[in-house]
Order: sequence, then C-alpha cells, then structure tokens
Amino acid sequence: MTRQLQHHIGGREQPGNSARYGDVFDPASGQVSARVPLAGADDVQAAVAAAQAAFPDWAATPPLQRARVMFRLRSLIERDADALARTITSEHGKTLADARGEVTRGLEVVEFASGIPHLLKGEYSAQVGRGVDSWSERAPLGVVAGVTPFNFPVMVPLWMAPVALACGNSFVLKPSEKVPSAALHLAALLQEAGLPDGVFNVVHGGREAVDALLDDARVQALSFVGSTPVARYLYERGSAGGKRVQALGGAKNHAVVLADADIGLAAEALLGAGYGSAGERCMAISVAVCVGDAPADALVAALADKVAALRIGPGIEDLDMGPLVDAAHRDRVRGYIDLGVAEGAELVVDGRAHACTRGDGFFLGGSLFDRVTPAMRIHREEIFGPVLCVVRVPDFEAALALVDGHEYGNGTAVFTRSGGAAREFARQVQAGMVGINVPIPVPMAFHSFGGWKRSLFGPLHMHGPDGVRFYTRLKTMTARWPEGAAGAEFTMPTMR
Ligand code: NAD
Repeated sequence: MTRQLQHHIGGREQPGNSARYGDVFDPASGQVSARVPLAGADDVQAAVAAAQAAFPDWAATPPLQRARVMFRLRSLIERDADALARTITSEHGKTLADARGEVTRGLEVVEFASGIPHLLKGEYSAQVGRGVDSWSERAPLGVVAGVTPFNFPVMVPLWMAPVALACGNSFVLKPSEKVPSAALHLAALLQEAGLPDGVFNVVHGGREAVDALLDDARVQALSFVGSTPVARYLYERGSAGGKRVQALGGAKNHAVVLADADIGLAAEALLGAGYGSAGERCMAISVAVCVGDAPADALVAALADKVAALRIGPGIEDLDMGPLVDAAHRDRVRGYIDLGVAEGAELVVDGRAHACTRGDGFFLGGSLFDRVTPAMRIHREEIFGPVLCVVRVPDFEAALALVDGHEYGNGTAVFTRSGGAAREFARQVQAGMVGINVPIPVPMAFHSFGGWKRSLFGPLHMHGPDGVRFYTRLKTMTARWPEGAAGAEFTMPTMR
C-alpha cells in the first residue's frame, strides 16, 4: 500500500491543509512508494509559528544542555543508521553502502555540534580603558529555515540543523519533495533525543512552500543547497527581505591529471568520483582535464573498459551504481548524451545502451566522452548524472585556465606526483574545495563546506566555524562601574 506522509509541526505529524500531494518513487522499480503532502502558505506559517513559539525557551537553555541533546541524537542516529540508509536508498536510489557513508558524514556534523559550549565561547578584553572591560558573545538568530536537495536526504539537512539548533535557534526544514521520508525520521530522532516540541519542524512541498518561507518576516535566516538558478533566486529574494542567506548551488568539478600522474590510480579515483551515486553528487568529478595527449590516451583506455563494466542495479543490491532519482532526470541526462554526440565529442562508452535500461527503473549506464572542448554545452552545463567528459589540454597553465574559466567553482582535484605543481594548483585555482590526489575533497564537519563563483551565493560556507558564524550574531558589550559621576563627554569616546 502507498504510504501517506505528513508534515512534522510542533512535535506532531499532521497532514496540513493544502490537500495537494506529490508522488514519491522507488527509483529502482519506477513504482510510486509514497505520497507526500505539498504545503501551502498556511502550513508553512503554522510551522514557523511553532518554531517562533519554541524559540525563547530553547535559546535560554544552557548550551551544555543543548549539547546533550546532540550527544543523544548521535547515539540515536548510530542506532538507526541502517534504517536511515535503507530509506535513502529506497527514495534516492544510491547504493546502500553509499547511503551508509552519507549517514556517517551527517553524523559527524552532530558530533561537531556537540561541542557547542566551546564553540560559543566569546572573547573578552579586560581594561580596554581605565576601569572599562569589553566582551563579545554570539546570540542565536531566532527561527531559521533549511531548504535541501534530493541527492543527500540525510547529510545535507544534517549540515544545517545540528549547528543551528545547538546555537539556540529553532528550525523549519523543507526537504526535497523527491526524498521526504528521511527528514521525518530525523525529526522523530530529535524528539526522542529530548528536543522540545516546535524547535525542529518539517514541512514538505515545492516552490510554494519555499516562497512562503521567503515571505515570512519571522524567518531570520535561510540555508539552501540545490541547483544554481534556485540558489540565486533564494539568495536575491531572501536578502532583499532582510534575511541572512547562504545558498549553495550547482557544480561542474574538474580533475586535472598532470602528465606525471599515476594514470592507473587516477583512473580508479575518477571511476568512483564520476560514477559513484550515479554522478548525482555536487562534488562528483564530471570533467577530467588531461595534460598531454599520451596521458589522455592512457587514461581513456584505462577508464573505458571499467566504465562499460560498471555493475549497475537496485541500490539495495550494493553494486557499483544505482538508478537516477526519477524518470525526468534520467531523460535529461540521456538528453545530454545525445547532445554531446551532436556537438562532436567522441562517445567512448554509451550508457544509453546499457542492459540496466531495459526495466521500469530509472537506470542509465555510465557514459564516457573523449575530446570534449570547453565550449561544448556538455562541458559548460551541469549534467548531474553518470557522464564523465575528458578534455585534452597542452600544459598546466591551460588546465588551470580551463578550470578557472568555468562558471562553477565548487570542488576540483589535481592528480600528480609533483608537490610543487600540486601546491601551485591549490594556491591558484578558483574553487572552494581542492583535492590533491583526492578526488572528492569534502571537508570534515569541523571545517566548512562551500564553493566559489556560481556554486555559492552568500559569504559563509556550511557547518564548521562558518556554520556557527552563520547561525549566530555577534553582540559586543562595553562596561564600566564608576565610583562617582564622570560628567558629560561630548567628544568621541577614546578610552584614554
Ligand atoms: P533543486 O534546486 O531543483 O531543488 C532544491 C530544493 O529547492 C528542493 O527542496 C526543491 O523543492 C526546491 N525548489 C526547486 N525549485 C524551486 C523553485 N523554483 N523555487 C523555490 N524552491 C525550489 O535541486 P535538486 O535537483 O534537488 O538537487 C540537485 C542540485 O543540487 C544540483 O544542481 C547539485 O549540484 C546541487 N547540490 C549542490 C550542493 C552543494 O553543496 N553546492 C550539494 C548538493 C546538491
């Protein structure tokens, strides 16, 4: 029977008022597995009202007690890790092992947020003037919201919520309507961990729900992860309304393979980074930039058989790659393979022809293009599927210029045996996250995650120190305890 999902508002699951629903699919079978309510403005307002009501008491709760909720959440996520991973696989399609990895990366942010008393410690300066002391502290913002994409149903909400909550904010999450169940599981775990009702709420839906969050003056800040056009829309509209916004957008991540690289190691790394999670990762490598024709020939030869031999099937079978998230996205990715052929790139492996495409699931084989040029749309645009493009360049400078010339600047990687070349690449390249012989350089939870250029709108990255900065505002006090009247001072106070 098709499951009927609900919103999680004020500590209770409720259907909402909109009477509109969306279908949730099992990508491996192509069948509808659940129906998700699509919130209207009043459902979102109810969630914001619940968060607003819960905020003052939660903000006044000592950070150590808020941290204890995070410690309990950590244990509960560990307890339910397998169930969470199965939910991810059943709605997103990625392999179970990959989904378990996603849960672990989310868990690490909960661990980071458990150190919140230390992270919120302010700064103190004694005797800034005679008899005057000054200190600063970080205060929570109030109600903050998160809007998340389909490709990490657990990890991306956990990039945001643990830090926001530990800082003393209340939270409204609007997860992707394609993968709604994991967010409800997280809401139940937070409740079990002792989070007071209303501090964390989940409303499902699409653009109408997001617009209601943007329009609600009670929402102080918005964190977004998704595609660049939507990131930009949220950033501009949210900022115009006076909200603090961090909006992470799309990506096209290049791996530069220098002539001295170990081609065998680079090929293995690119295989995982290009085709893992069917390429539906914002840090997936989608372009290999090869310096020199001989290394490019060797790399394409090393990759071709491996790409053709990728083991593809339902995520639950834990092969190399599962299906794409839905039929529309599968068709869009397939359209890019048609386009690459029309643009004149050399299609070395054609995923359209793979045996996995015969059933009803949203499958597509891995594809490999060689002799892609920078001007082709398959290079300029984000495909977000199992398609790797090889671009050939003559030297290091051309490789760097190619990466820097792209509109996205999320992650990048360099493969080389030369420390000097790697250092120069890392120093000069215009991207937010750089791997040196590491294909997917996702920062750990105690660092911050974010791209450059059109991969991020707003100044602050997610989780780590930037996460704490984003979810708090600074207040600086200056105090004197005078013994007697000091008299009026009409000049600018200088503390001399
Ligand atoms: P998306 O932009 O379509 O959707 C993201 C969220 O925005 C969803 O919750 C969706 O309901 C909502 N949304 C969609 N259209 C909207 C609109 N017009 N107005 C308001 N809200 C809208 O992205 P997606 O397809 O779910 O996810 C894939 C994209 O996310 C890719 O571009 C990928 O690169 C990006 N991504 C980026 C990062 C990063 O860290 N930079 C991480 C993961 C995914």
